Amino acid sequence: MKCPVCGKESQGDHCFDHASAKERLEAAYPLWVRAYGRIEWKDYLDNVKRNVQTGRWVREIAEFLQGG
Ligand SMILES: [Zn+2]
Repeated sequence: MKCPVCGKESQGDHCFDHASAKERLEAAYPLWVRAYGRIEWKDYLDNVKRNVQTGRWVREIAEFLQGG
């Protein structure tokens, strides 16, 4: 299989880097909900993408998840 984000060969749905970025992204969502009150998943992804602190892998997977 190939990672749909970067095209790298992978064992699962995503390559290692994007799989762990996705995990981090999903793990941080409940923390945002707690901190900001209600925030939709897509708005959360938007915020993550705009955040200058967001790393490359997370930004790419956030973009991918928004598109899909
Ligand atoms: Zn990838």
